[in-house]
Amino acid sequence: MRIYIHTHGCRLNAAESRTFVEALEAAGHDIAHTMDQSVDIAVINSCAVTEQAESKCKQTIRQIIRIQPNVTLIITGCLAEKNSQECLKLHDRVLVLGNSEKHRMIAHIDTLDLRKKISKLVKNPLGKANFEIPCALRRPYCERYNLKIQEGCDFFCSYCIIPHLRGRARSRNFENLVKDAAIHGKQGVKEIVLSGVNIGVYENNAKNLADVIAALNEIPEIQRIRLSSIELKTIPDAVLEQMANDNNKLVKYLHLPIQSGSDRILQLMRRHYTIAEARDYLAWVAKQISGIGLGTDLIVGFPGESEEDFTYTLSFLQNSPLQYAHVFSYSQREGTVAALMRDRLIASKEINRRSKILRTLSHEKRYNFYEKFIGFEQDVLFENKNRIGFPGYTENYIRAIVENSSKDLTNQLVRVKLIQNCGDYMRGEVVH
Ligand code: SF4
Repeated sequence: MRIYIHTHGCRLNAAESRTFVEALEAAGHDIAHTMDQSVDIAVINSCAVTEQAESKCKQTIRQIIRIQPNVTLIITGCLAEKNSQECLKLHDRVLVLGNSEKHRMIAHIDTLDLRKKISKLVKNPLGKANFEIPCALRRPYCERYNLKIQEGCDFFCSYCIIPHLRGRARSRNFENLVKDAAIHGKQGVKEIVLSGVNIGVYENNAKNLADVIAALNEIPEIQRIRLSSIELKTIPDAVLEQMANDNNKLVKYLHLPIQSGSDRILQLMRRHYTIAEARDYLAWVAKQISGIGLGTDLIVGFPGESEEDFTYTLSFLQNSPLQYAHVFSYSQREGTVAALMRDRLIASKEINRRSKILRTLSHEKRYNFYEKFIGFEQDVLFENKNRIGFPGYTENYIRAIVENSSKDLTNQLVRVKLIQNCGDYMRGEVVH
C-alpha cells in the first residue's frame, strides 16, 4: 500500500511518526512523502494541546480528503484520543486509533479492506505499564533521531490536557531503547534527542535518565546526545555532571519550561517550583556549565494573570541566563482544572500584546547570546541544504549556516568558525 503520514504537534509525535515510517517500510509498504492521488492510506498523527492545534489537524484532514476523496484515513494521536467520535464523522473511510494503539499501527492496517467504506474506533485504556517499541529500521537514516524513552505524565498541571490524553508516566524498557539507538547509530544517525512527555522521571528496572545517557555514550556511531524539553526538579544531578563533562556526548543544552515568572500564577498552574527556585537553578547551571544553551516555554494569559504577574514574567526572562523563550497563549482545555477559571479569562487582544513584548525580548536575548560567540569555533551537526546554505545546530543550540561549501555537509559534524550574527542564525565558515 502507498501510505502518507502527516504529523502535528510535539517532538514526541515526530518520534512516533518516525517509528511508523520504519515499521511500515519494513512491512513492505511504500511511504509517500507528499499527499497526492496515488495515496491509499493517510495517517494523521494529531495534536490537541491547544484549540488552535486541534483546528490545524482538522484543516489537514479536510485538505487530504480534497486531494484524494477515496483515501482511507487513520487518525491517531491526542485529537483521536480526545474527540474520537468527532473524528469518526470527518470522512466515510476512517479508522480512529487512540494513543494506546499507536504502536500497533501495522496490525490495524492489515485488517483494512480499502475497497470498503469504514468507520471504526479502537481505543483502550492507556495503563501504567512500561513499554517496548519494536525497532524496524532497515535503511540508512541520516538525520537527528528523536528517541522515544518515556510516555505520559503524573504532574497534572492545571492548564494541561496531556496527562488526560497520554496517560500516567511510564518508561520504555531500557534494553529496548538502547538497542533502538544502536541500530539508528549503525544506519547513520549522529545525534539522538531523548524524547517523551516528562523525560526527567524516566525509570526502568532501577535505571534512570543518567543511566540511559551513560549507555548511549557507549554507542560508537552516536556522537551527540540531546535532552528534549525537561521539567525543573526532575533532572538527576548525575545528568548535569555528564553535561559538564567535555568527554561525555551529552550536549550542553537545557530547555526548561518555566511557564510564568509569577509565584501566584505558578501556584494556580500547579507547577512544582517557585520562581526563586527556578532563578537559582538557572543561575547555578549557567555558572557550572559555561556557554550552555538555555531555553524555556512561557504561557501568556493564564486565567487571572494581572499586569503585575506579567511584569514578573518579563523581568524574570530579562534577568535570567535564558537565551530564548517559546511564548504560548493560554488555551482553555475542557477537563483541566484551569478550565474552571473561565470567569477570569484574559482578553485575546491583551494576550497578543503581552506575547509580542515577550517574543521581542526573546529575540533580543538570543541576539545577545549569539554576539558572544562571534569568532568562536563550534562543532555543528549539519542538516539538508536549504536556500541559504547548509544549516545546523551547535551543541548549545546556536543555529549556524555555512553558505558556500564545496562539500555536501549533510549529517556531518564539522568544526565551524562563527563569523556573523544574523539574528535568527549565525553565519559560519568551515574550519579546515
Ligand atoms: S509536566 Fe505539566 S505541562 Fe508538562 S506534560 Fe505534565 S502536566 Fe503537562
